Amino acid sequence: MSATHDVFNQAPPLTGFTTADDPALLEALRRDGGGWGEAEVRALGARAGTEEVQDWARTAEAHPPVLRTHDRYGHRIDEVEFHPSWHRLMAAAVESGQHAAPWAEARPGAHLVRAAKFYVWAQAEPGHGCPVSMTYAAVPALRAQPELAAAYEPLLASRTYDYGLRPPLGKQGLIAGMSMTEKQGGSDVRANTTTAVPAGDGSYVITGHKWFTSAPMSDVFLVLAQAPEGLTCFLMPRVLPDGTRNAMHLQRLKDKLGNRSNASAEIEYEQAVAWPVGEPGRGVRTIVEMVNMTRLDCVIGSAAGMRAGLRQALHHTAHRKAFGAELIDQPLMRNVLADLAVESEAATVLAMRLAAALDRSEAGDAAESALRRLGLAAGKYWVCKRGATHAAEALECLGGNGYVEESGMPRLYREAPLLSIWEGSGNVAALDVLRALAKEPAALDAYFAEVGEAAGADPRLDAATARLRDLLGELSDPGRAQLLARRLAEQLTLVLQGSLLVRHSTPAVADAFCASRLGADWGHAFGTLPPGTDLGPVLERALLKEASL
Ligand SMILES: Cc1cc2nc3c(=O)[nH]c(=O)nc-3n(C[C@H](O)[C@H](O)[C@H](O)COP(=O)(O)OP(=O)(O)OC[C@H]3O[C@@H](n4cnc5c(N)ncnc54)[C@H](O)[C@@H]3O)c2cc1C
Repeated sequence: MSATHDVFNQAPPLTGFTTADDPALLEALRRDGGGWGEAEVRALGARAGTEEVQDWARTAEAHPPVLRTHDRYGHRIDEVEFHPSWHRLMAAAVESGQHAAPWAEARPGAHLVRAAKFYVWAQAEPGHGCPVSMTYAAVPALRAQPELAAAYEPLLASRTYDYGLRPPLGKQGLIAGMSMTEKQGGSDVRANTTTAVPAGDGSYVITGHKWFTSAPMSDVFLVLAQAPEGLTCFLMPRVLPDGTRNAMHLQRLKDKLGNRSNASAEIEYEQAVAWPVGEPGRGVRTIVEMVNMTRLDCVIGSAAGMRAGLRQALHHTAHRKAFGAELIDQPLMRNVLADLAVESEAATVLAMRLAAALDRSEAGDAAESALRRLGLAAGKYWVCKRGATHAAEALECLGGNGYVEESGMPRLYREAPLLSIWEGSGNVAALDVLRALAKEPAALDAYFAEVGEAAGADPRLDAATARLRDLLGELSDPGRAQLLARRLAEQLTLVLQGSLLVRHSTPAVADAFCASRLGADWGHAFGTLPPGTDLGPVLERALLKEASL
């Protein structure tokens, strides 16, 4: 005991929980054909909440990766050293199949189960989700080149995490990265200047720079470069089949706001060897298959971050008293927590619906494919944008403790904006909504068919749906369309989220969402649910324990 004071009125450590204690997640899993994966999701969720894994997350971030450009004799080696905790996180993610299981076992619900695993595990540590997600996403793009897919896909889908620079086809398992962004053009990849010259044996020689390439210790990368036919997608291994290192020179690692456990490099390709993937000159079309998958993971990752922040906020406020009562019982704090819970559930239910749409579109369902196209563009915009605001408010629920690294909240806070920036920053995602509407008229039909499932259930949802149709009518003026794109992406997401909550959540959550997000009665900050909202059941659902599910 301290000579001067006892410690009291501080929350106990939050550990030994399971991130799968999540009604919205488990209900979605069962509803959309992923019930067979529930036991594995629960096991992974329980592991994510252990003290051991929390410690991996802390140390992987506290000891960020270090670039070793040369060995002691001056030879280039271009290696990145990671803390052992990074490798433990990666190994656990790969063993659980988050990086590619649906490609190895094309079972109904496989993408949904994988999404649920990614969601529960990302709550432990988000940084390593980047290479896990890119490996998952590389497979559909690689399939544009069947002979490469035949050789590499089984290794990308392998559940063995086999780290180290060796010829990829001799390894037990592979990790993939993506190398598109250049100094002069990120969103606008057509501005890429990296060149690809045919070598005459089917391979190409790549010369140029990439301004951002994350997870540079990956085994293979999908790279965009200008071939004689135009922008083309290539598969580039870190190590060539003869065991020599490909000429990918890591110039430096980015000093990033967050995502610090992960490495993001600037790379020079100095006549590096790569093989074309898909039709030469159609590189954007090929790599967009990858980008669409990583965009889904941005939505899932944002939902995971919200859930993790909410859990911390609920835990702290349940154990902290101020002005004579637990914070969680103070009316205004209840409004904040309930509002955070509503946002978190809306993000989760949408993320899982999009994952289910992926399953069905992979099985050939055109309407689900169209729904996914539009829903993902809009959701990438809105859910990822809400992530940062949600993290800030959840952090504040812990007061000063939330601002201190030991709480883990700064990590969530730093990570959140990244999910909105990469794989299409806010404006680019919103403009992608316009593109989806222009190029895939079926997307809007699929969207309204989905939303229509909840028609008549809540007048505020019906009114918001009608307003959305009016907004869509304004797009016929080309001068206005871009100005309205963000508003449109927001409304498309809110109406879809509202319809899903009305159909699948509890009346209290659906009511709180419709009253605030779809009605006019909502402030701009969290904690502004209108008076009369039944906060108790919203909080009870957010606090539900596994045993009662
Ligand atoms: C930590 C981190 C890791 C990354 N890892 C990778 C990686 O592994 N591989 C990779 O290829 N890239 C990676 N990136 C790059 C990332 O994908 C890009 O930063 C992102 O796509 C934005 O591109 P940019 O930085 O060139 O910004 P810009 O394209 O210059 O965009 C700047 C701003 O302008 C907006 N904008 C762009 N076009 C328009 C328009 N037509 N109208 C209105 N607004 C517009 C954007 O929304 C954005 O807000 C990473 C980035 C970060 C931060």
